[in-house]
Amino acid sequence: MADGGSSSRPSAYRGRFAPSPTGPLHFGSLVAAAGSYLDARANGGEWLVRIEDVDAPRTVPGAADGILKTLEGFGFEWDGEVVYQSRRIDLYHAALVRLQLAGHVYPCSCSRSEIAAATSRPSIDGGLVYPGTCRAGLKEGAAARAWRLRVPDREFVLRDRIQGESRQNLERDVGDFVLLRADGQYAYQLAVVVDDAVQGVNSIVRGVDLLDSTPRQLWLQQCLGLPEPRYAHLPVAVNQAGEKLSKQTHAAAVLPEQGTEVLARVLRFLGYQVPECLCRASTTEFWNWAIGEWSIEKVPAVRAAFPGDVPAGAGNS
Ligand code: GLU
Repeated sequence: MADGGSSSRPSAYRGRFAPSPTGPLHFGSLVAAAGSYLDARANGGEWLVRIEDVDAPRTVPGAADGILKTLEGFGFEWDGEVVYQSRRIDLYHAALVRLQLAGHVYPCSCSRSEIAAATSRPSIDGGLVYPGTCRAGLKEGAAARAWRLRVPDREFVLRDRIQGESRQNLERDVGDFVLLRADGQYAYQLAVVVDDAVQGVNSIVRGVDLLDSTPRQLWLQQCLGLPEPRYAHLPVAVNQAGEKLSKQTHAAAVLPEQGTEVLARVLRFLGYQVPECLCRASTTEFWNWAIGEWSIEKVPAVRAAFPGDVPAGAGNS
């Protein structure tokens, strides 16, 4: 398998944009694309694009091509070939086998309803904290449905370049989490950790909706003996109802035909003062200016913001 499609040029900084092809690129995903791109380029780094289509049931045919065309249309230039998670299942399988051999994972036979009957403790991401039913072994006659990673009862400290310090205890807030699902799909948490390490990504810039997943990823990195990247979590764009822009909330697609006007809105969202004249500039002129101006300190340390209001840096999370 290729090393992730990246060139062999040495680079101190390697970043990436990793969209899930569940629909067209919208304002919220464009924020993550632009933030990761600008931080990489302003630091003289490489910027990779990885299509996160590991979750086959959620993948929308044609969405990946649409996202790549849109990125191209907005003048993004990525390094190396685009990588598709759906073609890297062997890597995730190998990582799971390593975790099995080291005793970090165990098979689990619990269905959703069994978990719901055993606990009502809410987890940090809106589900339930896994009560550990299968930790000591499967019940007599029960068949394994999924594989879970044992988590420790200790606090993980994340020092995020934008959001500052946050803490999470995986046992209290998440519980042992699934790496291979009952439907045979590898979980995002495993795929993202394996890919970032194999591709040599050492600086991750992405939406703050993934901040709560980060301690799970730190723990996986430790279990697999992988280096820990630096993290920066950007505010996420919400609609007027306060919902994160996504396919589920029917966020409108962004189109290159809308020109640098949209990019200017994205940059204002990220804390820039964008001169009016740049709205009529070419994408090349626009990016050259934006790369020169980038500073991650300008990005407001908030969790959510409405694109119309430039977040002022005060917490409305
Ligand atoms: N594929 C994830 C998404 O589109 C992003 C993963 C990441 O940046 O770590 O939400």
